[in-house]
Amino acid sequence: MNLKIKVLHLEDNPTDADLIEYELSKGGLQFEKQVVDSREEYEEMLSKFIPDIVLSDHSLPAFNSFRALEILKDSKMDIPFILVTATVSEEFAVDIMKQGADDYVLKDRLQRLPSAVMNSIEKHRLEREKKAVNERLAFHLENTPLGFIELDNCGIVKYWSKRAEEILGWNRKALIENRGDNLSQVYEEDKPLAKKIIEQLLSGEVERNKVQCRHITANGKVIWCEWFNSVLKDEFGKVRTIMSLVQDITEQKHMEKQKDNFFSVASHELKTPVTTIKAYGQLAENLLEKKEDNETLDVIKRMGAQVNRLTSLIGTLLDFTKIQNGQLLYDEAFFDFNDLVQETVNDMQKTSYSHEIKNNPISDAFVFGDRNKISQVLTNLISNAIKYSPDSDEIIISTRTYGNGVELSVRDFGIGIPEEDLQNVFKQFYRVSGESQSTFPGMGIGLYICSEVITRHGGKIWVESIMGKGSIFYAWIPADHRQEGL
Ligand code: ADP
Repeated sequence: MNLKIKVLHLEDNPTDADLIEYELSKGGLQFEKQVVDSREEYEEMLSKFIPDIVLSDHSLPAFNSFRALEILKDSKMDIPFILVTATVSEEFAVDIMKQGADDYVLKDRLQRLPSAVMNSIEKHRLEREKKAVNERLAFHLENTPLGFIELDNCGIVKYWSKRAEEILGWNRKALIENRGDNLSQVYEEDKPLAKKIIEQLLSGEVERNKVQCRHITANGKVIWCEWFNSVLKDEFGKVRTIMSLVQDITEQKHMEKQKDNFFSVASHELKTPVTTIKAYGQLAENLLEKKEDNETLDVIKRMGAQVNRLTSLIGTLLDFTKIQNGQLLYDEAFFDFNDLVQETVNDMQKTSYSHEIKNNPISDAFVFGDRNKISQVLTNLISNAIKYSPDSDEIIISTRTYGNGVELSVRDFGIGIPEEDLQNVFKQFYRVSGESQSTFPGMGIGLYICSEVITRHGGKIWVESIMGKGSIFYAWIPADHRQEGL
């Protein structure tokens, strides 16, 4: 130990005091020492000298080591205490250690004293450090905006932070003392989900998961919570404890609902006048055709094309809000897949002058599903292919039977998609970022809708792409999704 330590020595025998000083120096300790032999001096030195260690003889004039130790403990100072005395009985040694002494060294074995001093100081230092770490951790746990909850490996609450109490309203003490079941405050409908999530963690099947579910607070209010859970395992891989962080997302859920309602109402409100404009446009076209006013007819036709675009955008918005609210209805029947693809390709070709859309159909393919929605998926993929390949003039549609279904692909020779975005493009509102990408208009919901529709048909959708060379979007759907999983 290179640091100079401060030793407070309770000793009434000057020879012993010198001997002990000699042993400490011999042991290589750098120290500063105060020797006292009365209670008053001892108390004064504790507060003034603030020692790193107290060495105490047992019997002193009108004072003893037990009292000295008691005074030290009462002072709440975290200072090690070593009894340095002549021979003592084993019972006495046990007693003083029980009272909180760190060690005892017999005066006829003083060579052990330097290491006893260093060990005791180090022990206290480590304990202080551990205490500080624990206090810091507890501070963080109690002061994060998230509630912290710990469950044991039987799913019983072990720890429930103050913030968790504020969020869920339940008293932490009552829960811990009653070893409360964490599911008791989960909203009835969400209990199976919460139970499954906890079981997955307890079985060690997953190490981390996230769930949103409703809870009933102590005063009966229903709130939405988001849980981030993880498990701590022992060295044999057995789950020891589940740590959960919880946050109240009721406000966020409420806003989401309001936003969904807003989109739903707005797209409905937009749809009615646009449908009327479209009808008047067609009427005007007919009248102008009769009058052979080709110049005005051309203007009206151009306006009609923009109205069609607007109708399709509103349709996309409506579908999106319906998916969000679980209200997108599917009208299913068997249909000829080739017919559908050809029809959609023809419709798209009519409005696309920049690209030739080539179709490679398969012989015969009947699919059970919603014809219109599958057609929308293809329309979406083709319009993206056109939009994102401004410097090419060709789109290739291919179909093939694969497994017990059909696989459709839409290939373009456009800008491509970076590898790291390939999974994300099917997520709602996701748009690839980048200078060139941001020049293309869009809402980032087309592929999300495609993915929803294909998944609802029991199929899969994915994309392969090379930057600067183009992309191929694939969709596979089973011939009859009702047969799947039977
Ligand atoms: P958007 O309205 O933005 O086109 P989508 O959901 O249809 O929304 O597509 C999501 C994102 O995927 C797009 O913003 C674009 O970055 C990328 N993307 C989609 N199709 C293609 C494609 N054929 N080529 C390159 N990027 C594409």
